[in-house]
Amino acid sequence: MKNIVFFGAPGAGKGTQAKKLAEKFKLIHISTGDVLRAEVNNKTELGLKAQTYMQDGNLVPDDLIISMVEKIIAANLKAEGFILDGFPRTKPQAEALDIMLKKYKIEISDVLFLDVPKEELIVRLQKRAELEGRDDDKDLSVVENRINVYNQKTAPVIDYYSQQGKLKKIIGIGNISEIFESIIKILS
Ligand code: AMP
Repeated sequence: MKNIVFFGAPGAGKGTQAKKLAEKFKLIHISTGDVLRAEVNNKTELGLKAQTYMQDGNLVPDDLIISMVEKIIAANLKAEGFILDGFPRTKPQAEALDIMLKKYKIEISDVLFLDVPKEELIVRLQKRAELEGRDDDKDLSVVENRINVYNQKTAPVIDYYSQQGKLKKIIGIGNISEIFESIIKILS
């Protein structure tokens, strides 16, 4: 199995690249943000619980996210692999992932980090707000909060993988296909 964990700040373009990678390697793409947005649209119990956190640009509580991801992994154990896009985002999520991987006898093959400077992130998120109309992209204070949350809670998780010598960093500047080529190169 090829299992990839994909990190990048909000607006770094990791969703776009993760989708392309999933297509190329026939992986199950688990975007926790996409799954949550679908839950919110369908007004499920999880969606109703997650909604306010998402609107404010805060993280949804770990226990909800961890069980949501585990359900998807458990239902797809025969897949070619997974690409985790937006998970883990906190240290407890990373630890829960380690336990899940042991339980299902799965290993992480690569941990990717798409690195984009903050000023560029804000420009991209403003463009995406116009194109896609995502609620949490529209308000600059929510965007700033998401970037702060990322720096406080998710950056330490990146360090956690870096210390294990698993992290591969890609500079996320350039067009979509150039960045995709850099990712493929770093994976091979
Ligand atoms: P994203 O599409 O990855 O930017 O995620 C959108 C929103 O969903 C985030 O701002 C969080 O509110 C929530 N979310 C997505 N993934 C996670 C996660 N792993 N842990 C907690 N909240 C998450």
